[in-house]
Amino acid sequence: MEKSILENFLHDNLGELKSKGLFNVIDPLESANGPIIRISGLDLINLSSNNYLGLATDSRLKAAAIEAIDKFGVGAGAVRTINGTLKLHVQLEERISRFKHTEAAIVFQSGFNCNMGAISAVMDKNDAILSDELNHASIIDGCRLSRAAIIAYKHSDMTDLRLKAKEVKESGMYKKIMVITDGVFSMDGDIAKLPEIVDIAEEFDIITYVDDAHGSGVLGEGAGTVKHFGLSNKIDFQIGTLSKALGVIGGYVAGKKDLIEWLKVRSRPFLFSTALTPGDAAASIKAIEILSNSTELQKKLWDNGDYLKRGLKTLGFNIGASQTPITPCIIGDESLTQEFSKRLYKNGVYAKSITFPTVPKGTGRVRNMPTAAHTKEMLDKALSIYEQIGKEMNLI
Ligand SMILES: *Cc1c(COP(=O)(O)O)cnc(C)c1O
Repeated sequence: MEKSILENFLHDNLGELKSKGLFNVIDPLESANGPIIRISGLDLINLSSNNYLGLATDSRLKAAAIEAIDKFGVGAGAVRTINGTLKLHVQLEERISRFKHTEAAIVFQSGFNCNMGAISAVMDKNDAILSDELNHASIIDGCRLSRAAIIAYKHSDMTDLRLKAKEVKESGMYKKIMVITDGVFSMDGDIAKLPEIVDIAEEFDIITYVDDAHGSGVLGEGAGTVKHFGLSNKIDFQIGTLSKALGVIGGYVAGKKDLIEWLKVRSRPFLFSTALTPGDAAASIKAIEILSNSTELQKKLWDNGDYLKRGLKTLGFNIGASQTPITPCIIGDESLTQEFSKRLYKNGVYAKSITFPTVPKGTGRVRNMPTAAHTKEMLDKALSIYEQIGKEMNLI
């Protein structure tokens, strides 16, 4: 029988990915996503999660979720604007705004949803968005959804941003202009130059939007990159996720009261997708409570990050120029990088390879995400495996 158009499409495209070694095989975990994970019966040191503070398995968060499930059930039952808003969602939003030093906050079901909803609620086809070329996929999609003109500027290049901001402003073609950046860039661990971005935004009357998925819980005593630079009253949209350092799931915007009110009547995932579950909301409240009361977990995270970086550097690896605990180990050649990651895996370290097109050609790397939950012993073990494989492959 003749193949359908869809069957042909899938056959050809899957075949191409597989033949190029670009088909991603997913390894299901047989354990929680903690510092040690179990895959296919093997225990591995986990250097691949975004669970920066180890909160995904924290007993206090688990207890809060269980209590909330007992009281409110497993689902919120409706979208936020019908009757899916539980007291827990309101408490969570209040907690977030206090933690972020803003007037208000709105919670979404994920960080991805948040970018889908927030950008297009404010920007439209008469507007322009200046976007860092390395911004996260959800920002790119959120920008597209708004139908605004998208103007990418070179990664963290403030001369380029200023030039483009000036051009866009002086063209007189756009009603509103917005600049969007990740707070921390997850591939290299570098921090956005927010003070300069704010200066440029003020000069050209530009709305500011910072997606701090990788900075929240990590920088600024946990409150994120904006707080790190003391700019809490200068950034219009502070986006964060509850899914990474906070260990649960969800996304949010923190900002002025009017902005949040507008998002609550105009952002489509808030209006048309069911609210965060009670367990997730309660666990997130607990996570923010923990971060608000102590910087112990951040300190542990940064200590572990520094320890791993120093170790890899001493062994002779190129660890790039990360400013955060994210620690790339840059191998260069794509297939060598994949081989390196595979051998780490076989010897007990789970650190994913990241290659072109996610990062530029020739900068393939194994990316390490140390967390507060790793012990020195785990990191030492990982380093000794790095040393062994690095030597075997003549990389160091
Ligand atoms: C991970 C990430 C997201 C998505 O967050 P989820 O809560 O996992 O959907 C959005 N933006 C950035 C910059 C991210 O790194």
